[in-house]
Amino acid sequence: MRIAFLGLGAIGRPMASHLAGAPFELTVWNRSGAKARAFAKHHNVAVAESAVEAVKGAEVVITCLPSSVEVLALLSKDGKLIGAIERGAVLLDCTSGDPATSRLLASELEKRGIGFIDAPVSGGVVAAEGGKLTVMWGGDEEVFERVRPVVEAFGKKIVHCGPVGAGDALKAVNNALLAVHILSAAEGLALLKKAGVDPSVALDVINASSGRSNSSENLIPQRVLTRAFPRTFRLALLEKDIGIAASLATELGVAAPLIALGAERYAEARRQLGEEADHVEAVKMIEAENGVEISDGTA
Ligand code: NDP
Repeated sequence: MRIAFLGLGAIGRPMASHLAGAPFELTVWNRSGAKARAFAKHHNVAVAESAVEAVKGAEVVITCLPSSVEVLALLSKDGKLIGAIERGAVLLDCTSGDPATSRLLASELEKRGIGFIDAPVSGGVVAAEGGKLTVMWGGDEEVFERVRPVVEAFGKKIVHCGPVGAGDALKAVNNALLAVHILSAAEGLALLKKAGVDPSVALDVINASSGRSNSSENLIPQRVLTRAFPRTFRLALLEKDIGIAASLATELGVAAPLIALGAERYAEARRQLGEEADHVEAVKMIEAENGVEISDGTA
């Protein structure tokens, strides 16, 4: 099966590594060509100098870009890329995108006989490296069956969420919850530190109680208490995701003030911490506002 993979970023790169080798015939492309060339050399796959070259002859085109804005721009730039994708091919968009843009893309592609599936992923770089991502997809079942072997190469839990855009909607809400959990856990720990409770002691209790979350169980102990703050998922991307969830709530007339406030807080964190900060670094904004450090004192 001939595959073109466009976008070898933090998550795209480990995903594409599972497609290097039979039964797949992989060609990679990345905006910064050096990354694609290094990947191709390491995995012994083909590298294309342009996205147009990459998609020629591909039965499956995978995009894994920051947002739907970049996917739309890449496809519609001079009409070239969309025109270069073969009739009968499927565009599998693994970007955490927005539902409205995905629906627009799907309808434009359908006119050209090209299928579209929105298939955002979850689980982070570790699950991507292990080929164990959760894949939430939206679209037509018959179209999906044509790309199922590709998705199974990097996904473990693969769930049909509904029509085109449903995968994007679910991903945006999942990540809105992640953002709110990070912020609320950090606020709680800052408050407890000021109340004289050590963050390690607080987490020991919270993680054996009903206030626990992935943030309290994993992210904060591993990344905040240690002050390691590894960069695995850009804060700017999480801000984009919770922003999509907030906009969707507005569009659908759903009262979601916590998500709206979380989106505002993540936008502020992005302004303060910049484009390259990791999503967990939003905790630093709360620390600065409160003049405390959420650490165990041994880092
Ligand atoms: P990165 O920022 O690490 O990489 C983004 C990729 O998109 C790079 O290949 C970059 O190219 C390319 N790119 C950026 N702008 C453009 C453009 N205008 N035209 C063409 N290519 C462009 O992002 P991630 O890999 O972390 O994320 C990709 C998607 O996956 C996002 O939607 C994200 O929300 C989602 N995601 C990320 C996870 C993670 O843990 N990192 C987990 C789950 C989902 P270049 O190298 O030239 O900059």
